[in-house]
Amino acid sequence: MTDRLLSFVQHPLGRRVARALGLPQPVPLLRRHDAWEDQELAGRLLSVIAPGSMAPMPSLLAAIAAQGGTAAGDAPASALVIDATGCRDVAALQALFMQAQFGVSRLAPGGRVLALSSSGAASAAEAACLQAVSGFIRALAKEIGRRGATANALVLGEGAASAESLAGALRFFATDRSAYVSGQVLAWRKEAAPAPDRPQPVALVTGAAGGIGAATARRLARDGLRVLCVDVPAARQPLEALARELDGPLLAADLTAAGTVDELVDAVHRVGGVDVLVHNAGITRDRTLARMSTAEWDAVMAVNLAAILAIDARLDEAGLLNAGVREVCLSSISGIAGNAGQTNYSASKAALIGYVAARAAPLAERAGTINAVAPGFIETAMTRRMPLMVREAGRRLNALKQGGTPADVAEAIAFLASPAAHPLTGQVLRVCGQSLLGA
Ligand code: NAD
Repeated sequence: MTDRLLSFVQHPLGRRVARALGLPQPVPLLRRHDAWEDQELAGRLLSVIAPGSMAPMPSLLAAIAAQGGTAAGDAPASALVIDATGCRDVAALQALFMQAQFGVSRLAPGGRVLALSSSGAASAAEAACLQAVSGFIRALAKEIGRRGATANALVLGEGAASAESLAGALRFFATDRSAYVSGQVLAWRKEAAPAPDRPQPVALVTGAAGGIGAATARRLARDGLRVLCVDVPAARQPLEALARELDGPLLAADLTAAGTVDELVDAVHRVGGVDVLVHNAGITRDRTLARMSTAEWDAVMAVNLAAILAIDARLDEAGLLNAGVREVCLSSISGIAGNAGQTNYSASKAALIGYVAARAAPLAERAGTINAVAPGFIETAMTRRMPLMVREAGRRLNALKQGGTPADVAEAIAFLASPAAHPLTGQVLRVCGQSLLGA
């Protein structure tokens, strides 16, 4: 789908008209969606500041070097990394303000800001100052979004600041792979023991025939995964075309139909278990509560929630989730903020947030992780069905003033599926351009 305003304001005349009319002036985002490189920061200049500390954590500098990044010097930096683990008193927060003010002034358009805070406070006063970093980053993200730049923060748990762990964080949050992720504050915990390597890991993606699912299947295949694509029989044609393109297996079946979960378990058995499980299939049946039929309620719950619970229960029972499995559930900003006319959809998507939080501990016993990805406004068939004015509002009500793409969401899923993201589990990664909804 074309964002006409985005194209229009790239011309000087369009920009002048937009300014005069008070319209948003989004800029094209710097994006990257190819396979992972060994060194994601190769050729990139970074600034590092450490307010409240004598110097940045040596492990952070080692992580940047390991990823091929170099100090920006006088040149504009593509990323500003803030070691905020020393922001433990009010004076250190003033140093954060002053150093970040200078650092952001040297940030290239479309640059990334990543702050690293700490969960290890020795007093309530320290906890307050460390928490200040999250408010600072969320506000900064709203200011720099109009330049296509983003800001995020990770709260480091005990033992989570090794060079290897931080290198993993930088691979996504300090690069163009996180183009539509902004204003997010996530817990980054200690790495667990790595899962055994498999020669060709297998991913299962539901709802793979189009939109976010197809983009995810393609993105995971680029990393060398064999992808089992699942979608309804009515979508057989695009599903078969995708499976041919990726040279992978497919299952054309309605996840809510009797017998489908058995078929799915058989298909997973044939490919030797699953290493990456993406519960992407989802539907909407929008209506206000007063007018909603039981059929509309049930249809949404069946696809968006009951099918996921049933598939996981059967795969668990059959022992088909391989050690180190990465599970991702597609939630939604509607599950966080609620949306009028979507009591069914919002309930189903909120349920997934509770589900990943509760399922993280049992999966951790097998070195696995599970997270929810909550897209904001993404340009797909689902959002194409919205009424024009609702669609235009949804597209602009975020810090980047534009919608995201299926590839943006797929990139976040590919990150969660990668070894680097092991420290993230039980959480919600919003891919929403810092949507103003539910912020
Ligand atoms: P989409 O409608 O383009 O694709 C969803 C896919 O799921 C379709 O191919 C559909 O055939 C499949 N599907 C539906 N019911 C199924 C069933 N019973 N069995 C098997 N497959 C089934 O949607 P999308 O925009 O790509 O969204 C993908 C996911 O992301 C959904 O869970 C959606 O709720 C979520 N999401 C999307 C947006 C957005 O802006 N597009 C925002 C928030 C969340």
